[in-house]
Amino acid sequence: MGQLTAIILGAAAGGGFPQWNCFCPVCGLAWAGDPRVKPRTQSSLAASADGRHWVLLNASPDLRAQLQATPALHPKQGPKQSPRDSPITAVVLTGAEVDQTAGLLTLRERQPFVLYATAETQSAVAANPMFNVLSPDVVTRQTIAAHKSFTLPGGIVGELFTVPGKVPLYLENDNPELAREDGANVGVELFVGGNRLLYVPGAAAVTPALATRLKRANIIFFDGTLFADDEMIVTGTGTKTGRRMGHMSIDGEGGSLTALAGLAARRIYTHINNTNPILVDGSPERRKVTAAGWEIAEDGMRIEL
Ligand SMILES: [Zn+2]
Repeated sequence: MGQLTAIILGAAAGGGFPQWNCFCPVCGLAWAGDPRVKPRTQSSLAASADGRHWVLLNASPDLRAQLQATPALHPKQGPKQSPRDSPITAVVLTGAEVDQTAGLLTLRERQPFVLYATAETQSAVAANPMFNVLSPDVVTRQTIAAHKSFTLPGGIVGELFTVPGKVPLYLENDNPELAREDGANVGVELFVGGNRLLYVPGAAAVTPALATRLKRANIIFFDGTLFADDEMIVTGTGTKTGRRMGHMSIDGEGGSLTALAGLAARRIYTHINNTNPILVDGSPERRKVTAAGWEIAEDGMRIEL
């Protein structure tokens, strides 16, 4: 095919939308079934170059429901095949947060695949014995150095690149370093037939190196966690700013609307927190981002490159 198919399996940040315990103004609309909002599962993307081998970017806690909703990822039975099979041949992690890794537990049952991640993320996964359900004789864990390309099953060439962020919440100390840049938080670039797709679900800032990478991409999925840096405080849903959580906001000084303005690529916000008013069709915030040329990811969104 020489092409890349990408399917957004989930477009929400950790907690999903609506979040199980939240009645913020945006979740309230979802609980009421208001047609201006669509529920979304936690962030993940599936990609394939040949339609047979699929790669997951992050394994969300909602993975089982995401697979059920996505026929391309269903197991197929051929005449001489084992009844156990899956088109999912690889998982690439951008970090070791719960919402990036918990879905690995769904992928147990002795199904071979390769788990690609940086040394930092592999070590966080290895430190949790529950992930040993992915037996090493079946699931290969491959450590990937940032900024070096590697070939995924099915022929997609990928590269992990460091993005300012922070370590997973459960590994934070009392005073975590924010906007640090190492293998604990990375983005993924996928190349097929001269096309470049970037998946950056968490970014605390846009560095010059990241800006260069964004400029040459054809399509960018970018951190849309919060519209405003103080959104969780204002809505009473939390005490942390976006910066404290390792996410640059969309709007305001240092926001992604400004940082990614003027790019030629198709730009799509994903990893959207349930408090974010861009989830509401017709909201002033949604109108502002769409007027700036952005799209808003939804579960099941399919892109061909
Ligand atoms: Zn909410």
